[in-house]
Amino acid sequence: MKEKIIVRFPPSPTGSLHIGNIRTLLFNYLFARSNDGEVVMRFEDTDRERSNSTHEAIALEALSELGLDFDKGPFRQSERTHMYVDALQRMIKKDIAYVAEESEEDAGKHVIRFRNPNKKITFNDLVRGEITIDTTDFGDFVIARSETNPIYHLTVVVDDLEMGITHVIRGEDHITSTPRQILLVEALGGSIPTYAHLPLIIGNDKKKLGKRHGAITYQEFRDLGYIPAGIINYLALLGWNPGDDREFFTKNELVKEFSLERVNNSPASFSYEKLDSVNKHHLLQLPSEEYKEYVHTFLAVHPEGAKISGHPHFDGIIENILRERVHKFSEIITMLHDGEFNWIINQPIIKKEDIIWKETSAKTIEKHLKYAYKTLENASKWTPESIRENLWHYAEEQGKGEVLWPFRFSLTGQKQSPDPFTVASVLGKEEVLDRLQNGIQLLQ
Ligand code: GLU
Repeated sequence: MKEKIIVRFPPSPTGSLHIGNIRTLLFNYLFARSNDGEVVMRFEDTDRERSNSTHEAIALEALSELGLDFDKGPFRQSERTHMYVDALQRMIKKDIAYVAEESEEDAGKHVIRFRNPNKKITFNDLVRGEITIDTTDFGDFVIARSETNPIYHLTVVVDDLEMGITHVIRGEDHITSTPRQILLVEALGGSIPTYAHLPLIIGNDKKKLGKRHGAITYQEFRDLGYIPAGIINYLALLGWNPGDDREFFTKNELVKEFSLERVNNSPASFSYEKLDSVNKHHLLQLPSEEYKEYVHTFLAVHPEGAKISGHPHFDGIIENILRERVHKFSEIITMLHDGEFNWIINQPIIKKEDIIWKETSAKTIEKHLKYAYKTLENASKWTPESIRENLWHYAEEQGKGEVLWPFRFSLTGQKQSPDPFTVASVLGKEEVLDRLQNGIQLLQ
């Protein structure tokens, strides 16, 4: 029988999960789910001063919104101290660990050190291949501050053994921890898990990931208006590829496609541009109703968004304009700031000279607007396409600028706005006729 694969989500609740942490959790998740394995969640909260339950709640919220579910836990290391104490006592008894002065300068302060056998450790990393490290350099390293106060290497090893973890998948920054942890596994008489160290994520400029590059938390990404499907898809591409040029995947498709063999060992570079394009792809996949709901929910917490999202014409904007243009919902806030949609809330105040196209006479412009009025008054269908059909032939015949500029300007009062047919469809027939009438009056 094949062994059951068990992986772990082991965040330290000392801060919010940033994108690197989540990428690691995602790869654990995909590996487990694609192998019918299990995910164990545990909070590594041995740093009591910096750990807190708010960070735990924020981490769990991120996992739940991203759909990264786990099978067991969440456990807390702070509630498992008895297991670490037990392991320490066994090691001390066997003289594998011993109480020692913390340092020469700090005589009197005691710690517990591991008696390092000083040997070479070789392990086969699923991403990086065979790695050999001489542990002599580590000396007799500290595993606890006191018999009841174990630190990271010991707690991780005891937990991994007790939870039956078969695969430890974590960031490359932990690679030097691995030989120490293997020594401890051997000392405790357990079986050594398989390791996979994921490549670092770096910024476009090849520098270590900083805030500016996207070292931001899940919640910050959410507040910028990226959706879980987009975030998951993009993060999967940070270090993994499907072996061909496909780049859009749902979570279920990733579960089917994922394998650790396809994880690269060179750094993955984070790009907002790519994230935007992946997120937009997933936004376009959403059914219309779901998309609208997302937009309304997003706008509700922004003052300028809340003002517009209840407007009767706004659903038309969502469907006809935003869906085409938006990569992430915060772009809508920028558009609102720039006044792009002022025309939907207020009837424009227009000046006669602005409505006139180049050298055309006021009389001619008036004639065109009247034509548009008459034609649209009789229109039975009201979509951007049908409105375009009604006017296009005439516009080509008379001059597109001459006909369509005053038409659009009467409706929006803005030199820049979406195309006139979309604008008209969003405003609705009654409002369009009303605004055209205002334009006509202005010219008389
Ligand atoms: N708690 C550690 C961290 O958040 C996990 C390290 C590990 O995977 O062993 O970095």
